[in-house]
Amino acid sequence: MPTEFEPIIGLEIHAQLLTRTKIFCGCSTKFGTPPNTHGCPVCLGLPGALPVLNRSAVELGIRAAMALDCQIELESVFARKNYFYPDLPKGYQISQYELPLATGGHLSLHESGTDVGITRIHLEEDAGKSLHEGFPDSDLKSHVDFNRSGVPLIEVVTEPDMRSATDAKSFFMTLREILVSLAVNNGNMEEGSLRCDANVSVRPVGQLALGVKTEVKNLNSFRFLERAIEHEINRQIEVLKSGGQITQETRLWDTSADRTLVMRSKEEAHDYRYFPEPDLPLLRISEDWVNEVRRSLPELPSATRVRLVENYGLTAEQVEQLTRVKPSLVTYFEEVVKADVSPKIAINWCLGELTRNLNGRQVDKVKVISQRVPPVALAKLIKLLDSGTISGTIAKEVFEKMCGTGESAEMIVERDGLAQIDSVEMLSDTVNEILTQHHDAVSQYRSGKSGAIGFLVGQVMKATRGKANPKLVNELLRKAIEG
Ligand code: ADP
Ligand code: ZN
Ligand code: MG
Repeated sequence: MPTEFEPIIGLEIHAQLLTRTKIFCGCSTKFGTPPNTHGCPVCLGLPGALPVLNRSAVELGIRAAMALDCQIELESVFARKNYFYPDLPKGYQISQYELPLATGGHLSLHESGTDVGITRIHLEEDAGKSLHEGFPDSDLKSHVDFNRSGVPLIEVVTEPDMRSATDAKSFFMTLREILVSLAVNNGNMEEGSLRCDANVSVRPVGQLALGVKTEVKNLNSFRFLERAIEHEINRQIEVLKSGGQITQETRLWDTSADRTLVMRSKEEAHDYRYFPEPDLPLLRISEDWVNEVRRSLPELPSATRVRLVENYGLTAEQVEQLTRVKPSLVTYFEEVVKADVSPKIAINWCLGELTRNLNGRQVDKVKVISQRVPPVALAKLIKLLDSGTISGTIAKEVFEKMCGTGESAEMIVERDGLAQIDSVEMLSDTVNEILTQHHDAVSQYRSGKSGAIGFLVGQVMKATRGKANPKLVNELLRKAIEG
């Protein structure tokens, strides 16, 4: 029987912390400003400059660590990681090594149920950015932008607990959702605010020892992450099956070629000559601070999901959609329900019309819409529909106007004369007109094609611009035809 192989994956994730200023100086962390406009002796690595730790960076690190069930280390140590690169002016990166901020957490993936151990979370500074393209002299020179130099990061290191590319993707998505919901990170992978490296190995099924791993870098989208890991798994299996050996190395995912390429042979920790940072004291965190941060922690996405099912009876699919569109829609939905609308109807509006109206709009769409149409205003619209004052079609039309102008539903219905027509007198003329105009449909209905009634109802609705009560129209048409 041919040997079956089992993939093993561990992830290392770098997340920029949402502080206003850098981790060891007062320079701005703002993204997208002209190159080299946020620099000072500290983050440019000038000799003699002294780092001062940013308290908010530590606090955000603690928040992330708590959400991942880690133990917060009340004493941790900054260390120098020495290496040479043009975007690293000091010649070392200040990171944490032997004693990190947090250890021993875990995160379970709600799709597969896999429980992924978190080895550690540590604080460190980001490096600058080398720019190899986009300048007139790019064929001769590379340029360096130090705006990112010294931006605070956490690195989250997982145990080798994932067993498929899908698991790894799902871990990264879940982690992103948590970090974003805690306002620890903005989740922007294109701008490099959230980056993932994957460690991949395979072993024959049944073998206990782990195989030799490679590290795949440049995984800046969920799709690339999954594809790159899948490719790397298959590559390793092929090497082993043809009698070869895996070399421990760093590989780069080449998007255009759809494969991984060797970048460098893997360096060992001793190559970095880590040693404790002499310019920074021990990082001490008081129990009080830990407790304070714990109290300020918002509900985590996984708990929100459970609550949405238990309190409102939403289906798993609805919960997935609601939390995916934008977490702030959760609060919106709950407010609509609080304004006395049944959860079933409220969720249909949130995932239907509301989401449709969000799609065409810019930036913080939820914020804009909830200012124009606060949950209570939507609840009022739903009540107009519920009481039969307006028809379903009209309700959608009114909602769109509300999103555009911020007027109330009552106001729009009144001004535009949109109230539902549901008196027999007001409808009978139109009904008769439609009947005389569409003899064929009438005879079809008479000869047993009951579907023809739908067409006739549609015609009346069209003639009344959607205002007629469709149920009543249906009744009137039947009566008139059946005599
Ligand atoms: P290194 O010494 O190369 O930095 P570590 O033991 O510190 O390796 O682990 C780094 C990452 O690689 C962690 O996410 C860990 O889970 C993962 N990892 C370690 N060994 C393996 C392996 N054999 N296969 C897959 N992932 C692994
Ligand atoms: Zn600075
Ligand atoms: Mg390591």
